[in-house]
This record gives sequence, structure tokens and C-alpha cells, in this order.
Amino acid sequence: MERAVADVMASGWFLKGEATRLFETDYAQYIGTRHCVACGNGLDALTLIFRAYKEMGAMKEGDEVIVPANTYIASILSITENQLTPVLVEPRMDTLQIDDTLIEQAITPRTRAILLVHLYGRCAYSSTIERLCEKHHLKLVEDNAQAHGCRYEEDGPARHTGSLGHAAAHSFYPGKNLGALGDAGAVTTDDDALAELVRALGNYGSSRKYVFPYKGRNSRMDELQAAALRVKLKYLDQENERRRAIADVYYRHIDNPHVILPGRETWLSGTSHEEVRWANVFHIFPVLSPHRDALQQYLKSNGVGTMIHYPIPPHQQQCYAEWNERSLSLTEEIHQQELSLPCNQSMTDEEVEYVVNCVNAFVPETTV
Ligand SMILES: *Cc1c(COP(=O)(O)O)cnc(C)c1O
Repeated sequence: MERAVADVMASGWFLKGEATRLFETDYAQYIGTRHCVACGNGLDALTLIFRAYKEMGAMKEGDEVIVPANTYIASILSITENQLTPVLVEPRMDTLQIDDTLIEQAITPRTRAILLVHLYGRCAYSSTIERLCEKHHLKLVEDNAQAHGCRYEEDGPARHTGSLGHAAAHSFYPGKNLGALGDAGAVTTDDDALAELVRALGNYGSSRKYVFPYKGRNSRMDELQAAALRVKLKYLDQENERRRAIADVYYRHIDNPHVILPGRETWLSGTSHEEVRWANVFHIFPVLSPHRDALQQYLKSNGVGTMIHYPIPPHQQQCYAEWNERSLSLTEEIHQQELSLPCNQSMTDEEVEYVVNCVNAFVPETTV
């Protein structure tokens, strides 16, 4: 990576050059789409997709987009930023993904798209969702910010998330499974017109120098980031494999009645099925506990750092005051109980075992 970055510096060419072009080619091939358009970050990638659909006439102000209620705020910001209306749908507690049996009743004559979020690195796609999109002529947009390398397989060859819908947004924020040395993002799609529009909109609205058919913005990937990402992409599957091995230890050995591991049954029943396992790349390893805060405190006092993804759901945020009175009980439960255990490729086996032992030794005070 140091060499790749040094080469960019020596070339003196920092934007819209060879490194970005090569990364776009590599990443499109990896994901399995005709196009990859690099941009500034994941939020821009999402926002540019919806903006492009508006320019194409596929959506207009006030149209509705179905989105999981439990997601990172950026998914929803990309919708409201385009004056589209998010329709929040509750998740399932065993997968923590959008409940696909609740989607059809949320569809109205104004619905134009489903924004599917592969939250925590778990594939949220299903044939039910595909059928609904066909039946109601909806665009399927994927938020793949947390799921690089994740695969879906059902009655056919495995496909990467990011190639399952009409367009997908990717974030290469440093902490993601495929992370850059700063901000970076991309859109993948098979749609030629959409790819061209996203590229123009991220370049001031220009498709030809100094000619501006659209009121665009500036959202591009640095050559330095592209060069670093191209190197890291080669190690993505290997690093995801390590995350999966860590998760396997957690699923098998964490045993504490106060700690729930969503997805454990599917994982344990699918250990011999490669594709069940590749449907989760463990960007985050979430556990649920009614004693979440005490558990976090206990782990911290034992030297185990954890995070909460996320403490406040979007509909309870101040920026979406119009939703603050709404009750979305499953989403709220997840946000009250979720704790993310350490899970990344740099952990040693000893560290993983230590986390397991700490979690297993936790006893909430109320039951002592
Ligand atoms: C990180 C993230 C984003 C935003 O990506 P940035 O590159 O930080 O703008 C969007 N959606 C989800 C689900 C994310 O985790």
C-alpha cells in the first residue's frame, strides 16, 4: 500500500486518473456489475443514486422509498436529501434485517423504490423482495456500506451484494470491511444510463468539460484512496474469512442466558453450507441483552472495548422530529439492547477466547 500511494504522489496526478479507473474496473468485476462509479463517500453514493433516478424521471419529489427503520442514519438522509419520503419498516429480531413480510403492506401508489440495507454485514436480500420489486415496478437500491464481499445464493450461482438490485452504494470509510485511508465511496450498477448520470452528477453535473446539463455537485474519489483500495481489495475475502472464523467461535462458545446472539441458529445449521456462511461478512458482531449497559461496563472494566450500533434509532433523532412520536417497538428494542463485540481481522485467537470468557462470566447485578 505504501508503494501504491507513493506512486500516486510521484505521478503528481491526484484526481480522475489511472488509479481510480483501475479500481473501478477491479471493483465492478469483484461485485459482478457492468459499472462502478467512484465517488467521495457512502452517503454521496446513496444520494447520487436517488438524484440520478430523479433526473431520469423514475422518481419525483414526494415519492416514497421503503427503508428499514433500524439502520444507520445515512441510509435515510439520502432519501430526504432528495425530497423523497422514507417509509420505515420494522426488522425481524432473528436477522435484524427488514422484515420482508411487512413490505407489501407498506407499498402505496407513490412507492418507487426499496432501499435495502445489508446491516452489520448480513445479506438482507430475499426472493420475496425481488418478486415485490417486479410486481410493483420498484427500483431496488442496496446500501452495501457494511457488506463488501457478502454473497447471496438461491437457485443459482452465488452473487455478491451490490449486484442484486438495480443500483448499490458502497462506503469505503476506514472502519468498513473494505476501508480506505480516509473517505471514499462508489456506486455499482448494470444500468448504463444510471452509471453515466451518477458520474456526471458527482462531477458538477458535467459529462463533457465545461458543459453542464445538470446542477451537480463535487463528489470524487482521490487517486490516493483508489490506489490504496486496489491493494486492499485483494485481501478482502481473506480478511472476511478471518472475521467469519472469529464469529464462529463466538457462536459456538458464548453461552450466557443474558446474552442473545441473533442469527446463531442459522449459522450453526449452515456450517457445512459455504453460501449460508458467506451471507454474512460480520462487519459488526451484534449481541442483544436486556442488561446491555451493565454488560458493556463489565466488559470495559475487563479491558474489552465494545460499541453500540446504534444508541438512538433514526425516528427518535432530533433531525427527524416529525417521527419522534412514532412507536417502532422492535427497532427501539434493538437500539436499547444491541452491543457490538470486537470482531475484526487483526484479533488474535487468544483475544477472541478472552472475549468469550468475559461474556460468559457476566452476571447482571439484579440476578446476583
Ligand atoms: C457507513 C455507512 C454509510 C455512509 O458511508 P460514509 O462513507 O460514511 O458516508 C451509509 N450506510 C450505512 C449502512 C453505513 O454503515
